[in-house]
Amino acid sequence: MKIHEYQARQIFRQYGIPVPDDILCHTIEEVEKAARELNRMVVVKAQVLVGGRGKAGGVKLAKTVEAAVDAGQKILGMDIKGYTVEKVLVADAVEIQKEYYVGLTIDRNTKSVLFMASAEGGVEIEEVAKVNPDAIFKIPIDPDLGMTDFMARKIAFKLFSDINLVKQAVDIFKKLYKIFIDTDASIVEINPLVITDGGKLAAIDGKMNFDDNALYRQPNIEVLNEPTEDEKKELAAKESGLTYIRLDGNIGCMVNGAGLAMASMDVIKHFGGSPANFLDIGGSSSPQKVIDAMNLLMSDKNVKVIMINIFGGITRCDDVAKGLVTALDQLKVEIPIVIRLSGTNAEEGLRIIKEHNLPTVGSLSEAAKEAIRLVNSL
Ligand code: GDP
Ligand code: MN
Repeated sequence: MKIHEYQARQIFRQYGIPVPDDILCHTIEEVEKAARELNRMVVVKAQVLVGGRGKAGGVKLAKTVEAAVDAGQKILGMDIKGYTVEKVLVADAVEIQKEYYVGLTIDRNTKSVLFMASAEGGVEIEEVAKVNPDAIFKIPIDPDLGMTDFMARKIAFKLFSDINLVKQAVDIFKKLYKIFIDTDASIVEINPLVITDGGKLAAIDGKMNFDDNALYRQPNIEVLNEPTEDEKKELAAKESGLTYIRLDGNIGCMVNGAGLAMASMDVIKHFGGSPANFLDIGGSSSPQKVIDAMNLLMSDKNVKVIMINIFGGITRCDDVAKGLVTALDQLKVEIPIVIRLSGTNAEEGLRIIKEHNLPTVGSLSEAAKEAIRLVNSL
């Protein structure tokens, strides 16, 4: 589970990490009021559950109330990587001397929390990680000891030489680690942690993800959940007995069985295509399930071709075929479909499909290749 920056900032504040004041706004009127209230230079920030807002134009500094309103007008409603901006944070802006990166995550290799820090923080951190990975320190934290003063100082000295900054950083690092453990987080990041013109450290952006399996014991975190459109879809799918995960490719997949669904995605990738989703329709062959699944796939505007891959084990292919045909009769499907049926009663299933003039292929490889060919011919 992810939370918004404004929510992460609240948690940081509760633990005593310095964060500039801010006000969450849903409308231009609220932005104007907030800018007046803060009464100085502000930064207007899109609240979407995706990084890189700054680069996408979703973070704007404003010196006057008018400029803040203007920024609000530009950012509210903006699309950032497929997310529509429905709220903005109007925050006290700070003068920045330098930007740092600090992050915690779980490291399976060392079986511990990994503390990451870099003096090259800011919007280019992904690039730094790629071209200059040594500029990011990675320090595993002993789970028995936790974040000791010694360790926090050791990391702080890697970033700062001024003892005043080191002291502030030690305090922040210890609090950040406590947040990570207390909330069952999987990622906590401050990027950037900045030195302000007054020589103080402040967290001016916050990112937190949580371990979904621990939410049952984190009621204060669980209430912060604001499911994205994709997650709402995934939850709705679950209610109709489908397991659906949206991805960003263009070949919609409908498969029975989780393992086969994974294999189908692998085969698409293998031949150079890109799956739009994971979708396991489970063992039953009810037409309603197929209808729900088709609706789900077609609601994703990235989907250009649908590849159906059914292996009849307990589910019989002729039942699935009937379900498919019934579903397709009821729906207006305007994109090409490729169907591969195999297993119990496959011959009968294929006959039913062919009777309805739907294209079938003989194997999973062929299905993937055909789906890719169709996508490329669009
Ligand atoms: P992100 O792009 O989604 O990571 O959004 P951030 O909140 O990290 O903002 C992106 C960049 O905007 C930061 O790295 C800063 O350079 C700049 N920025 C954000 N807030 C302030 C601020 O209060 N003052 C100044 N001068 N720059 C800011
Ligand atoms: Mn950031």
